[in-house]
Amino acid sequence: MDTTKETITVRIPRIAEHNGFSEFLAEYTISNKCPKCGGKRAVKRWQDYSYDGSKKLLCDRWDNECGHYDTYESIRKEVKKDDFDKLTRMVDEARFKLSSELGREPSLQEITERLEAEGLIPPINEGVHV
Ligand SMILES: [Zn+2]
Repeated sequence: MDTTKETITVRIPRIAEHNGFSEFLAEYTISNKCPKCGGKRAVKRWQDYSYDGSKKLLCDRWDNECGHYDTYESIRKEVKKDDFDKLTRMVDEARFKLSSELGREPSLQEITERLEAEGLIPPINEGVHV
């Protein structure tokens, strides 16, 4: 394993009640540092069964150097937060580009339309008005 990489990829269930179905496995790319203390994450990795109360599913497990414990739920939250940070950055970039094109502050609708046009976000539901 390349220890210089900043991220690791893990395969874990994307929902808690996976019923043992491998369709519910998802690959996530996460930081290689413990979110609690910045210690090295996943110094030891192996595969184990996640048990949802009724069915088992084989997925990744790991130990962090610092002894802090990542749960699958905490990883799912971490990924969502990363997505949110990414979206915030995209909106900032689009706002900057649009404002130099338009010579004024773009509206939120113009920003979302731009992001949709570039395929960066899925189309917002019809009927939702800002
Ligand atoms: Zn830690």
